Amino acid sequence: FSRLTEGLSRSSKQMTEQVVATFVKEPLTEKALEGLEEHLLESDLGPAATDRIVARFRDLRFGAGANELEVREALAEAVAAELVNHEARYEPLNGARPFVTLFVGVNGSGKTTTLGKIASDLTGQGAKVMIVACDTFRAAAREQLKVWAERAGATFESRRDGADPAGLAFDAYTRARAEGYDVVLIDTAGRLQNKQALMDELLKIVRVLKKIDPEAPHETLLVLDATVGRNALAQEQIFGRTAYVSGLVMTKLDGTARGGVLVPVAQASDAPIKLIGVGEGVDDLQPFDARAFSRSLVG
Ligand code: GDP
Repeated sequence: FSRLTEGLSRSSKQMTEQVVATFVKEPLTEKALEGLEEHLLESDLGPAATDRIVARFRDLRFGAGANELEVREALAEAVAAELVNHEARYEPLNGARPFVTLFVGVNGSGKTTTLGKIASDLTGQGAKVMIVACDTFRAAAREQLKVWAERAGATFESRRDGADPAGLAFDAYTRARAEGYDVVLIDTAGRLQNKQALMDELLKIVRVLKKIDPEAPHETLLVLDATVGRNALAQEQIFGRTAYVSGLVMTKLDGTARGGVLVPVAQASDAPIKLIGVGEGVDDLQPFDARAFSRSLVG
């Protein structure tokens, strides 16, 4: 978690330094609790979790000899308690074969990068992987995905500009079944400018996949950019309501002072957080671990 720790240090400094100092100097005064509340809100933890964490602190008794470490530990524990029921694993090699994963989210959120990192990890484990570029309108997105596929040694399926994404998904999945692929990773469009058209397109892809296997897609990962702060909440609402999201990926946690937004997003969503992105490199994707994350956030 060193990268995450590094990346989150900005937010953790912001969140804890003054708070910790205040609590050590003057434990449990209302002023100190107000300071804590302010810092939690500034870190985008949201009002509900903030209220609970402040209440928890109000009940805590730091002795006269309370030290910084003790306060930090207590804060990390309080944040972790908000997240432990919202973590789960992404296990594409443990289930249906081929295991179909659909990636949804707005353009720029990190879908392509996340998909590429997963493909590399899976081929590295010896899996036979197919990547399908269902955003048939954006040639640049297709090219970028192709580069990731080549790097990973995964098969790449795409079609010319404007081809029907659902038709492509159907044919690719059919081929993957016939040729014994382990995993199919499907990238989708993320044009939120026309929300209804986008949702219709996603649902059509889901429908045709289900014609082949009623359980498919076996995972639908919603990719959210942590740097947009509370906008991530709005995106979760839009996709979560219609696209049958089964897991969340929070990206760009390395470059933001707003990592705390993961808390309200996780709590608003029916789906757990499965993965976090902590950089642009192929190894910068990690399973989500509530305790480790909270510890990094608090610093
Ligand atoms: P897409 O439009 O949703 O497919 O988004 P991309 O995968 O193209 O990502 C958009 C930009 O964010 C690219 O420049 C990526 O390198 C960058 N990016 C993606 N994930 C992360 C991450 O976890 N950390 C950082 N720092 N950058 C990321």
